[in-house]
Amino acid sequence: MRIGIDVGGTKTESVALDDRGVVVARDERPTGFGLAEVVATVHVALASLMRQVGARDARPASIGIGVPGLVDRRTGTVLHAVNLGIDEFALGGELARRLGVPVTVENDVNAAAVGSYRALVRDGLSGLSSLAFLNVGTGLAAGIVVDGTLLSGSNGTAGEIGHIPVLTGGPRCRCGQSGCLEAVASGYAVATRWPSSAEHPLLDLFRASRQGDPLAERIASDLVDGIAAAIRMLVVAFDVERVIVGGGLTKVGPELWHSIRRKLDSWASESPFLDALDVPRRVVFGAPIAAVAAVGAAFLQESS
Ligand SMILES: [Zn+2]
Repeated sequence: MRIGIDVGGTKTESVALDDRGVVVARDERPTGFGLAEVVATVHVALASLMRQVGARDARPASIGIGVPGLVDRRTGTVLHAVNLGIDEFALGGELARRLGVPVTVENDVNAAAVGSYRALVRDGLSGLSSLAFLNVGTGLAAGIVVDGTLLSGSNGTAGEIGHIPVLTGGPRCRCGQSGCLEAVASGYAVATRWPSSAEHPLLDLFRASRQGDPLAERIASDLVDGIAAAIRMLVVAFDVERVIVGGGLTKVGPELWHSIRRKLDSWASESPFLDALDVPRRVVFGAPIAAVAAVGAAFLQESS
């Protein structure tokens, strides 16, 4: 049995998988804020999974954890996780010592990429060798799987495409640059450029854009162009077979998806190069399974 835990900024999703990779137990609970609370959340989630699978199998073969932030994968140290209130903590080392099992810690978007890859391969795409998971949530980032292996890079930051500037003179990004993808195409971008008290600020933005508000039109168009540009970037740079677009912002549904597809189609109609790459065909909106980052976390050890 292996365990995967996705420690999100607001909730923690956990799964236990049997030897065939089938989910046999699930847990979902709010994530506490700050180091002690996050560690406590992980322990309680683990205990819940163990209770569900029964005492006989109570020792997992491995534990994988996805966290929103920078991670030193070799040591399992969380380096910078603002949403969790953790600056630097050897989460993997601490848990491994306490539980006596191998613990792998990874960025949550990378974990979602591994989870998506496993799910699609299991669903019959056995020839699938590469994909990217583009997460459009508060921020924008991608996890990339090539030849079945997670691409980490020399510092573990491969796929942080949100901080590639795409708009000259564009809005300032929280990374210090201007016009980054994340500064125009993310929940953060919508919140700062279109402050709204509506329950769904993105839907509010689209509504205002439809009604002809010029500022809303520009912000909505930057958002759609930014996400489409991120998809194109992943296909051109890595030639991945699929780009899964997930994350909180994409959950508002069809209006955003249709706009992104239309943008990709229009670029392809203007460029024989892009047309040959057939970018729209590679895009999938929405994660292929529930708790995709938790399931991916459970497979981290064998995906590196
Ligand atoms: Zn940036």
